[in-house]
Amino acid sequence: MKEINTKAKQNTTRRRILKTIGYTAGLSSINACSGIGSSLRIQRSYTRPHSREPFLAPRIARNKIVRVIVGLRPYRPSGFVVKLEEYDEKNIIHNYGHGGGGISLSWGSSALAVHEAARLPVNQAAVIGSGIMGLTTARLLQDAGWDVTIYTRDITRHSVSNVGAGQWAPTSVFEEGVATKAFEEQYKYASRIAHHAYQNLSGANYGIRFVENYYLSHQLGEEAEAYYMRELPELFTSVADLAPHEHPFPVPYVKRTVTMIIEPATFLRRIRDDFLLTGGHFKIKNFTSLDEILSLKENAIFNCTGLGSKALFKDEELTPVKGQLVFIPPDPSIDYLTVGGGSDVTYMFPRSGEILLGGSAQMDDWSRNPEAEVTERIIEDNKKIFDNLRI
Ligand SMILES: Cc1cc2nc3c(=O)[nH]c(=O)nc-3n(C[C@H](O)[C@H](O)[C@H](O)COP(=O)(O)OP(=O)(O)OC[C@H]3O[C@@H](n4cnc5c(N)ncnc54)[C@H](O)[C@@H]3O)c2cc1C
Repeated sequence: MKEINTKAKQNTTRRRILKTIGYTAGLSSINACSGIGSSLRIQRSYTRPHSREPFLAPRIARNKIVRVIVGLRPYRPSGFVVKLEEYDEKNIIHNYGHGGGGISLSWGSSALAVHEAARLPVNQAAVIGSGIMGLTTARLLQDAGWDVTIYTRDITRHSVSNVGAGQWAPTSVFEEGVATKAFEEQYKYASRIAHHAYQNLSGANYGIRFVENYYLSHQLGEEAEAYYMRELPELFTSVADLAPHEHPFPVPYVKRTVTMIIEPATFLRRIRDDFLLTGGHFKIKNFTSLDEILSLKENAIFNCTGLGSKALFKDEELTPVKGQLVFIPPDPSIDYLTVGGGSDVTYMFPRSGEILLGGSAQMDDWSRNPEAEVTERIIEDNKKIFDNLRI
């Protein structure tokens, strides 16, 4: 009984998180909408705001899987931490805990972190961590005149940031009702700054482009619950609730937006190169205690260790949300992404070098091993959508 109660509690918490991120769009069975698909099969041409091409379906099959990866999102129900802590002559500025939206928030959260250090003399700075928060913090510090060294346990390629799917959508970052109103304002501020910064870098060079996003849902109003859509409407263009004859997807409710997709491997490599070209230094170092951190020569120390902050700074609230992604070879014809429409967290993002199929969100799960049944479910959910596209 205790196990059932624990499971029920986990499920409730997980559903709350999924609601926050808008991925509940697909929590009921796709079969429920088969009537819609069959009644509208005659429709073949759809108006698209961004692309001039017709919709095509990615060809999804188990034998096309090229790799499966797992990443642990650093989640805090009350939201990410940006604050300065003084330790005698040392100052630690935290910038961690961005859950499922750290790629989206990076430049904005890092700008807030650098602002925390505004009254410190510009000199040498240490940044701990070389994920997206560490790299964007380091770049902003360099622009402000600091001499920066990044200390990191893993190289960027092995960070959670390199696993991130890369939709510009600050989702699953906090739980409404748990986070304070002050945090919500900080989140919105960071979102706007980050959105602006990414727009300025848009293009193949940094792996950033605008694409049509389709949120698929079996129940009315689910997507409208997504906090970022509701509170930051100015950051999304071409937003529309589509009638069944206006889209090819085999679900009754579809919301469309146009937003950016960021390819983490390209973006991270590019800003790492910018950091090095601007005179930055890297040191591989695994910190095991606060004392070790305080023994660094730099007086300004930026903590961008993501989930690592749990042990280093005894942050009990920080918890992993495990996410699994499945990849198949690229298809240049696929020029839109989808979120939702499956039996659990479901998405399809086309990248230049692969098609990414997601996903999962398993709270408090520290394991980094891909799970065969999750892969199977991801393939099955995406197949049901794209094998039934009304094109
Ligand atoms: C499956 C999945 C899909 C996602 N999709 C999206 C998305 O579509 N859009 C979006 O915006 N976000 C997305 N995210 C979330 C995003 O990837 C994270 O929020 C973000 O990458 C966190 O970045 P970070 O730099 O804080 O942490 P990390 O990338 O984990 O970097 C932490 C760094 O700290 C270092 N470190 C840790 N501990 C120590 C230590 N003790 N000593 C020294 N160094 C240490 C690590 O080596 C690493 O370099 C997704 C995440 C996952 C897993």
